[in-house]
Amino acid sequence: MEQTEKIGGVAVVGAGPAGMLAAIRAAEAGADVTVFERNPKVGRKLAISGKGRCNVTNDCAPAEVLSHVLRGEKFLYSSVFRFPPSAVKEFFEDAGVPLKTERGNRVFPVSDRAYDVVDALLRRMRETGVTLRTSARVDSVSRRDDNTFAVAAGGEEKLFRAVIVATGGVSYPLTGSTGDGHRFARENGIGVTPLLPSLVPVETAEDFSPLAGLTLKNVRLDVTAPGGKTVFSQTGEMLFAHFGVTGPLVLSASANMRDHPAGEYKMAVDLKPAVRFEELDARLTKILRDGAAKDLLNAVRGILPAALLPYVIGIAGADGRAKAGNVSAAVRGALCRAIKEFPVTPVRFRPIDEAIVTAGGVSTKELDPKTLESRAVPGLYFAGEVIDADAYTGGFNLQIAFATGSAAGKAAGAALPTK
Ligand SMILES: Cc1cc2nc3c(=O)[nH]c(=O)nc-3n(C[C@H](O)[C@H](O)[C@H](O)COP(=O)(O)OP(=O)(O)OC[C@H]3O[C@@H](n4cnc5c(N)ncnc54)[C@H](O)[C@@H]3O)c2cc1C
Repeated sequence: MEQTEKIGGVAVVGAGPAGMLAAIRAAEAGADVTVFERNPKVGRKLAISGKGRCNVTNDCAPAEVLSHVLRGEKFLYSSVFRFPPSAVKEFFEDAGVPLKTERGNRVFPVSDRAYDVVDALLRRMRETGVTLRTSARVDSVSRRDDNTFAVAAGGEEKLFRAVIVATGGVSYPLTGSTGDGHRFARENGIGVTPLLPSLVPVETAEDFSPLAGLTLKNVRLDVTAPGGKTVFSQTGEMLFAHFGVTGPLVLSASANMRDHPAGEYKMAVDLKPAVRFEELDARLTKILRDGAAKDLLNAVRGILPAALLPYVIGIAGADGRAKAGNVSAAVRGALCRAIKEFPVTPVRFRPIDEAIVTAGGVSTKELDPKTLESRAVPGLYFAGEVIDADAYTGGFNLQIAFATGSAAGKAAGAALPTK
C-alpha cells in the first residue's frame, strides 16, 4: 500500500450530520481537516430524513432533549448542554436555512427541503477550508507507535494526528451506514454493545395490506408486556403498511418493547381516544336510529376513515349489509369495543435495515462525554449514531448527531497545533 509520510491534522470518517459538523468545528478551531465519505455525495441519510423534509432538531430545552433519550442520557448531558437545540437552530439560520417549528416542537427548514440542510453543511465545510474526499471508503483506522493514525482508503494510506469516526449506525445501509465504525472501534480495542433496531415498524398477524398507506391521526396506542404491565401509552399518528403497522406512534412504541420478543407484547389502538366508551355507545345508538333504514356500513360512514369501517365491522362480528335499525345492543357494544380496542397483534419487528435508528454501538463507558475521545486510545473520537446513544423521533436523533459532532470536532481541533 502506498504511504505518504506527511501527517495530516484531523481525519473525519463519514459525512453525515455528525461527521460534517465535527469537521466544521475542528476546522474552526484551526485544524487541518480531511473528511472521507464513501458515497459520491454527502449526507444521504440526512437527505431522506423527516420524509425528505429533515426534522433538524426539537425546539426545547436541553433537559427536555435528554428526557427523550432512550439510551445514553447521562453520557449526552455535556454535549447536549453545550450544543442545545437553540444552538443548532442558530447554526442553520446563520448558514442560510430559515427554520420553522411545527407540532411537537419539531423544527424543519421553511423550504421543507432536507437538501437545504445538507447543502448548508457542505457550504460551511467549504468556507472553513475542510478537504472533502467523496467516493472514499475508509477500510481501516490504526494507531501507530508514534501516536498517529493510519487511515486506509481506496488502496492509499494517510497519516493523521486525530481521527473522528462518524460512520452512523447500521439501519438503512443503502445510505452508507453499514457498521464500519463499529469494526474500527473493535479493531482498536474499544467495546461495542449489541446492535439492535430502535424505532422500527412492526409486522402483525392481521393482514393490513388492503389498508396500506392509510394514516390514522390522533389515535392512542397502548402496549402491554407479558404479565400485564403497560409499557407504552401515547396518542399520535400511525400508518398501516403491507406488513403491519408503522408511523411515529408505532416507531416510538417499538423502542419500549425491548425486554421480550415482539410477539409477546399486546397492542391495542383506541381509534377514538377523546370519546369515552359510553359516549361512543350513545353516539352510535343515535346514528343507528337515525339511519335505521340504511345498511349498517352506510349508516356509520363518517365515524371512521371509509377503508377502516369494513374491518371494524368485521372485528365486531357484525354484517355491514344488515339494516342499521336491526343492530342489537350486543353488536353495538362489540362495535364500540372494536373502535376503542382495535386489535393489532405484533408478530415481529421489521429488520434492523428498516429501523430509523440503531440501538447499541460504541460503548459510552469507553468515551469521555465532554470530548467524545476514547479513554483507551487518545486521539480517536466517535460522534453520532455510531455511539450507543439514541432517542425517540421528533428531531432528537439529529440533535444527538449535531451535539456529539460539535463536541468531538471542537475537542479534536483544539488538541492539535493550528495549521
Ligand atoms: C428514514 C429515516 C428518517 C429519519 N428522520 C429523522 C429526522 O427527521 N430527525 C431526526 O432527528 N432523525 C432522523 N433520522 C435519524 C437520523 O437521520 C440519524 O440518526 C442520523 O443521520 C445519524 O447521523 P450520523 O452522522 O451519525 O450517521 P449517518 O447519517 O448515517 O452518516 C454516516 C456517514 O458515514 C458514511 N460512512 C460509513 N462508513 C464509511 C466508511 N467506511 N468510509 C467513509 N464513509 C463512511 C456514510 O456513507 C454516511 O454518509 C432518520 C433516519 C432514517 C433512516
